[in-house]
Amino acid sequence: MVNLVIGSLGGTIAMVEGKQGEGVTPSLSAKALLASIPGFRHEGSIEAETVLQLPSASLTLADVVKVLEWCRAKVEAGAGGIVLTQGTDTLEEVSFLLDLFWTSDAPLVMTGAMRHPASAGADGPANLQAALQVASAPESRGRGVLVVMNDVIHAARWVSKADALSVQAFVSVDGGIQGRIIENKPAYFHPPQARSPLPGPVGSDHKVGLMVCSLGSETDLIEHAATAGNYTGLVLAGFGAGHVSAKDADVIGRHTSRLPIIVASRTGGGRTAAATYGFPGSEMDLAKRGAWLAGWLSPVKARILLWAISASGLDSKDWRSQFEMRTGAN
Ligand code: GLU
Repeated sequence: MVNLVIGSLGGTIAMVEGKQGEGVTPSLSAKALLASIPGFRHEGSIEAETVLQLPSASLTLADVVKVLEWCRAKVEAGAGGIVLTQGTDTLEEVSFLLDLFWTSDAPLVMTGAMRHPASAGADGPANLQAALQVASAPESRGRGVLVVMNDVIHAARWVSKADALSVQAFVSVDGGIQGRIIENKPAYFHPPQARSPLPGPVGSDHKVGLMVCSLGSETDLIEHAATAGNYTGLVLAGFGAGHVSAKDADVIGRHTSRLPIIVASRTGGGRTAAATYGFPGSEMDLAKRGAWLAGWLSPVKARILLWAISASGLDSKDWRSQFEMRTGAN
C-alpha cells in the first residue's frame, strides 16, 4: 500500500474559462483534478494540494526549488510516491531540474494535459490517472523523475515537447521512452539505471542565459550577455553538431576564461560532435577556445544543468566535470 501525494502547479490541466471568449486560465484545485478521474481507486491514501496556480511559462527556477523542497518534505512525512501536475510548456525543463536534485527512490511523476478540462476528449484525467498508477508501482522506484503523458513514460533526462497542440506532444528523441501504461500498470523496457543527483540546491538567484544561433545572427548579443556581469554562464543553441559562425567563435573565445559558455545543437536530435569538423566555429575549434559542448543535451536542458550545478554548492573548478558527466547517453 503506497501513500500518494498530488501537488498541482497550474497549466492547461487545471484551466477553465472565466468569461466566455476570454480564454482559459489555471483555476482548478488539486482536489478537483483528482475528483475528475472517473471511478479512480487506490488502496493507500491520496493527499491533494494546490501548490501553485500558474501557466507553466511563468514558473521560475526559484519556484521549482520550492516545489522540490515541498516534494522532499512529503516523502519525509511518509509519501511513497508523488505526482506533480503542471503546464506542458515547460515540463521538459521543470522535470529535468527536479531530477537533477531528486535523491529519493520514491517515484516523482509529472504530468499535464494538452486539452483543457472543458474540451471534448480532455486528456487531463487520463494523464493524472496514469501518473498515479506509475507513482504507486514498486517498479517505478529508483528511476528519478518521470513524465507521463498519453500513456507513455518518459525520463526527465530525455523528454521534450515536440508539438504545440497535439495530444501526442511529448517525445524522448535518442534516449527513447522508458515504458508505457498497459492495462493500468506501468510496463518498463529497462531496469532503473544508476543515478547521481547533485547536492543542494543552496541558492536560486543566479542566471544562465540562452541564445539561439541563426543565419547571420547578431554576434553582439553574445558579447552583451558575456560582459553584462550578471550571468553565471551562457548556453548557445548552435547549428548542426554544435557549430557557430566564425565571428561568434571569436566572441566566445574572448570570454570562456570568465564564464562557462556552452554550445548545444539547435536541431532537436543527435549529439554535438567532438572530433569531426575543424573550421572556425566548429566543435573542435570551439573546444580549443574553451567552450563546453552539450553532448546529447538539448539547449534548454543544458541551461538547466548548468544552472543546477551552479546552485549545487560545488566548487566552480568542478563545474565542468560535473557538466560533462551528465552530457552522455546514460
Ligand atoms: N499547453 C500548455 C499546457 O499544457 C499551455 C499552458 C502551460 O504550459 O501552462 O499547460
